Amino acid sequence: MRVLLIHSDYLKYKTKNKTPIAEEITIDKEEGEFNEALVVFLAVEKEDEKHPAGVVNNLINEIKTATDQVNPERIVIYPYAHLSSSLSSPKIAIEILKMAENELAARGMEVSRVPFGWYKSFEISCKGHPLSELSRSIDAVDITADGIGEEEKNPSKFYILNDGELTDADNYRYEKKSDLEKLAKYELGTGKSKDGEPPHVKLMKEKELADYESAADVGHLKWYPKGRLIRDLLADYVYDLVVERGAMPIETPVMYDLDNKAISEHAEKFGERQYKIHTKKELMLRFACCFGAFRVLADSFLTWKNLPAKVYELSTYSFRFEKRGEVVGLKRLRGFTMPDMHSFCANIDQSLLEFSNQVEMCFQTGHDFDVNYEVIFRATEDFYAENKQWMFDTAKKINKPVILEILPERKHYWVCKMDFAAMDFLGRPIENPTVQIDVESGKRFGITYINPDEKEEYPIILHCSPTGSIERVICSLLEKTAIEINEKSPMLPVWLSPTQIRVIPIGENHIEYANEIADEIAFNNIRVDVDDRDERVGKKIRNAATDWVPYTIVVGDKEIETNILNVTIRETKEKKDMELDEIVYQVLSKSMEKPFKKLPLPRNLSERINFQ
Ligand SMILES: [Zn+2]
Repeated sequence: MRVLLIHSDYLKYKTKNKTPIAEEITIDKEEGEFNEALVVFLAVEKEDEKHPAGVVNNLINEIKTATDQVNPERIVIYPYAHLSSSLSSPKIAIEILKMAENELAARGMEVSRVPFGWYKSFEISCKGHPLSELSRSIDAVDITADGIGEEEKNPSKFYILNDGELTDADNYRYEKKSDLEKLAKYELGTGKSKDGEPPHVKLMKEKELADYESAADVGHLKWYPKGRLIRDLLADYVYDLVVERGAMPIETPVMYDLDNKAISEHAEKFGERQYKIHTKKELMLRFACCFGAFRVLADSFLTWKNLPAKVYELSTYSFRFEKRGEVVGLKRLRGFTMPDMHSFCANIDQSLLEFSNQVEMCFQTGHDFDVNYEVIFRATEDFYAENKQWMFDTAKKINKPVILEILPERKHYWVCKMDFAAMDFLGRPIENPTVQIDVESGKRFGITYINPDEKEEYPIILHCSPTGSIERVICSLLEKTAIEINEKSPMLPVWLSPTQIRVIPIGENHIEYANEIADEIAFNNIRVDVDDRDERVGKKIRNAATDWVPYTIVVGDKEIETNILNVTIRETKEKKDMELDEIVYQVLSKSMEKPFKKLPLPRNLSERINFQ
């Protein structure tokens, strides 16, 4: 459904001629005039025929959001076929229009509906304030990522699995205020979380990492140099992680033709909100790299000797048409970057082995970011019955209790998956890594391999994001600083800190020495900058703290004389006299085996742009 909302001073219309598909109307409907109306121009589309009720539901939500903002006196539904080139049948269109009218009236709104299928003249006066014109594409699908929030007719069972022992999730004795308890209650829909904006939103702006871009659609961010650096470091980190484990990097298109049956079926099954582009074709922006990877492998010649075959892509970007009201900061976006690996396995046994390895890889990323993940292991009842021991053994790799969800039947393309979530400051999960066993897509996308008996077979496919989206990794890191604010100074891991060492000269005559030290530090692949601004030392030290710089060196006459440097170490709040080599060694050891990139900003603070 395509919708154009206009907040108007008035709307007048007059019916002229009937088209062959016109609805019958009474005289009072032949013309009309409405003052202070929110006019909803809409075109019902082919796609909407599948789930009329779902579409109406989402339409009502959109109208509700708009009326909350602009407070119109009435709502006028105006069928306007010109909004779409893929119209539904007239019968369904009228049905949907009537449903929408009744639903709005039932909610106590004053609502009128302009006749369908007539040539009409109309006149509208748009109020012209920033919220007075909004266009929308509305789908029927109404579930959030990975099925959380989905209404269940046949609900799942939830347990806590600890060292091979199962306890009903409702009866488990959780450690007080543990993340596991918060996550379990969230899954069960019994938890309480605080309201409001998660603290990372303020931090991402304050630290000049990223900000909203009002000239784009909601949920698309602009990234400043420091944020871009962190993104690139994380991208390199995942690249190394998966390539070391045998994945082959590829890159594939961001949009796909919905006329392709396999793609539209998979998209439907995935249940995500599709982000569409209407040109001469109906295109969908990808929600992950699945299609691209599947098509590469479908066109390849594979034998059992190639398997498991792994391909990896960093999706800059992936797209989900999240609800406007749910889009927030780095946590829920309409455009995001997902590291996405697909493993093509010969059979279920090979996929289980590979799955276990990937669970270890996902868990490792939490360790590398120093972020606590809680784990939900999900499987269909059939899969669980057949692979119970394997599930118990795999859960043991986590070394702590995990949530186990048993689904009565398969609703998605997967039969088993493991989701890792960090908890945010408000007590809600940030869904990060995931591994999934897909038993459908091999066949659907025509991917085959030759088995040892020279016969063609469909592979089992694993979907894995070892970290979750890059944005959510940064989200978790920032939320963690807010959660721990009373215990430690907020900072990013040293290897992700935009400035790793800052040199502060006391006076102008110390700048040259500060630069010499900085040269030597930079030579060792450490990001260093020099606060050469004409400010008091106290202020520069406070600035370094605001910038979360892990190591700060103040240099004056004494340091020039002795070459012993006074260092403030943020993590331990220590002040220490150290030689330059020692500092360099300490920073390098904190970033060992992690990617490095050079400082993406002018080294002298006096030359920097203030982006905010
Ligand atoms: Zn995938």
